[in-house]
Amino acid sequence: MDARIRPSRVEVDLEAVAANVRALRALAAPTPLWAVVKADGYGHGAVPVARAALGAGAAGLAVALVEEGQALRAAGIDARVLLLSEPPVAGARAVVEAAIEPTVYSAEVIAALAAVAADADRPQAVHLKVDTGMHRVGAAPEDVVALAAAVDRAPALRLASVWTHLAVADEPERELTAVQLRRFDEAVAAVEVAGIAVPERHAANSAGLIAHPAARLDLVRAGIAIYGIAPSPEVAGMVELRPALRLVSAVSHVKTVAAGEGVSYGLRWAPEEDTVVATVPIGYADGVRRRLGGLGAEVLVGGRRRRIAGTVTMDQILVDCGPGSAVARGDEVVLIGRQGDEEITAEDWAERLGTIGYEITCGLGPRLPRTHTGNG
Ligand SMILES: *Cc1c(COP(=O)(O)O)cnc(C)c1O
Repeated sequence: MDARIRPSRVEVDLEAVAANVRALRALAAPTPLWAVVKADGYGHGAVPVARAALGAGAAGLAVALVEEGQALRAAGIDARVLLLSEPPVAGARAVVEAAIEPTVYSAEVIAALAAVAADADRPQAVHLKVDTGMHRVGAAPEDVVALAAAVDRAPALRLASVWTHLAVADEPERELTAVQLRRFDEAVAAVEVAGIAVPERHAANSAGLIAHPAARLDLVRAGIAIYGIAPSPEVAGMVELRPALRLVSAVSHVKTVAAGEGVSYGLRWAPEEDTVVATVPIGYADGVRRRLGGLGAEVLVGGRRRRIAGTVTMDQILVDCGPGSAVARGDEVVLIGRQGDEEITAEDWAERLGTIGYEITCGLGPRLPRTHTGNG
């Protein structure tokens, strides 16, 4: 999408990413920070975000898929890359070839990686994950010593870390985080008692890093916060973050709609008095969720908040700019981000939709070009 004809786009400020990484590193210091750039950098563009984060002192990167790690390597990024879940057995060779550091929690995948890595000239780092309470992926605590021993016995493998993931770190008042950290300490201690060194231990996502100092351990895995989005309302404001993303378009058509005339599919909205309605070429195919139309969501036009009028369609939305508005074709429309003195955040959308900021930026579609400013 290099020839940008449609004006709708995602603008990412890499200086904001760098500033967030620096702020989070200062909070975690001396613990190093690894930047999580899965899901195309939470919709922000994984490669530019990875470069900005590394430039701001991130010690490594983390991804969810082997393919995401391969994309970082294809872009020439040679930092350490942690794969956050076990790769499929069929992905073992790709992991070794791309020098990605996979998470492991099964004997089957440890054996597959050991076999593939046997031809390599240096040991393949693996990270053993223990399930301490989230019950998504990870080894049961009672299996951790046997799996660590399997890694230890494989000459081609090197145990780089033992780690876990917190289920409720974004709800700081809940007790499970402390319970998970205690179970984790016990699992690590059992590995060490078995005579196997554990070079690094880690547990914290953004909320763990921000709200639970005891979870910082030897490194933190920060995702959402490096993008300037709070993990949850409870954790918001505990560290100053700058949203990195703006979702921007421009008015494509303007008309006056008479009082009582419905607009858009279903004619679910009609003005009480004659008003100026602008059309903006962005819709649910881009991640502007259809339900926003009925939820009173606003966009910024001419530095003012204006309601989305009627149903969000696949490719276009309508905006009530008010009676007598001078809005014109080509005027900038901001759906997420700042315009003048007003700002709409991903968290605002999330609150309206009953979801989290993560889902908003990850849901911005591939049809939107990403433009990056600031060298981070
Ligand atoms: C996504 C993810 C993270 C980052 O979480 P944030 O809340 O975005 O900071 C850390 N660890 C694991 C295992 C993850 O899946």
